[in-house]
Amino acid sequence: MATYAGVDLGATNIRAVVGDESGRVLASRRTGTPQGPNGIAVTEAVLDALRGACEEAGVDPTRIVAVGVGSIGPLDLAEGVIDNPANLPDSIDRIPLTGPIGELVDSDDVYLHNDTTAGVIGERFYSDRNPDDMIYLTISSGIGAGVCVDGNVVQGWDGNAGEVGHMTVDPNGFMTCGCGIDGHWEAYCSGNNIFRYAQRLHDEDPVETSMPLESADFSSADVFAHANEGDEFAEYVLDQVTQWNVIAIANMIDAYAPLVIYVGGAVTLNNPDRILDPVRERLDDVVFGNVPDLQLTTLGDDVVVKGALASALTAGTGDRSRVRSS
Ligand SMILES: [Zn+2]
Repeated sequence: MATYAGVDLGATNIRAVVGDESGRVLASRRTGTPQGPNGIAVTEAVLDALRGACEEAGVDPTRIVAVGVGSIGPLDLAEGVIDNPANLPDSIDRIPLTGPIGELVDSDDVYLHNDTTAGVIGERFYSDRNPDDMIYLTISSGIGAGVCVDGNVVQGWDGNAGEVGHMTVDPNGFMTCGCGIDGHWEAYCSGNNIFRYAQRLHDEDPVETSMPLESADFSSADVFAHANEGDEFAEYVLDQVTQWNVIAIANMIDAYAPLVIYVGGAVTLNNPDRILDPVRERLDDVVFGNVPDLQLTTLGDDVVVKGALASALTAGTGDRSRVRSS
């Protein structure tokens, strides 16, 4: 039996899995992502997680045929490193990945992707239809997408394609994005920002609401909870969120012509009806081409690590016909 490995390197957690030729997970290991002192510490934690998953699977690391990695960015694909990760402390400047992982498993077949690209590879591989044209969209603390067109996973020359959260949706720039630019999609619709958007809208028009807008603990989850209890202002905020989601998703559909869009990320997974249903209803009115299926991810929280494993199995493509039997 040939064995493969996948790694999900996130800002909070590192997960490693070992799987077989069918993409079945045989063993997994999870550890916290070191917040310092430097990038090498993160590399070491990734290698430890891989060794741990191999041990649990009863496989020597050198028997692993190939490894896929889905990571926070930004990536430097040519060097096989993460360069100044935006969501980790500043002391972590450079995280070497493909070189040290290749040495551990004694293979040159290490495939590095940003996490949403790993997501689309996973959705493609594990989907019944193994579609050639699809998008994986995550609406979480931030927003990003992985795109596959004509069977080609779109990475960009540096590996950083799909940063759709930083597309401008609002020309008036009512909200400022975490990146410093006004009007970006995730400034309105990500988990880090829905509650801020609610506060700004209320500053403009202080209508009655049961939401604790002034509380230090006020969060995006509160907006959904109050909307579910019938708070009219909370519902208004989520209507505005839907409006921006419709614009951005329609733009992606007209740019890429996907057959299906799988949507994941904590905001979506916790509120699938609130996020997906109203967008689905409005796409017909705004999309020029064919309207694709808009579906909740089938892989839940495992989408990145299973995508990384699927990448290892399919030489970075998610195309099931590319699985190498050995
Ligand atoms: Zn931005």
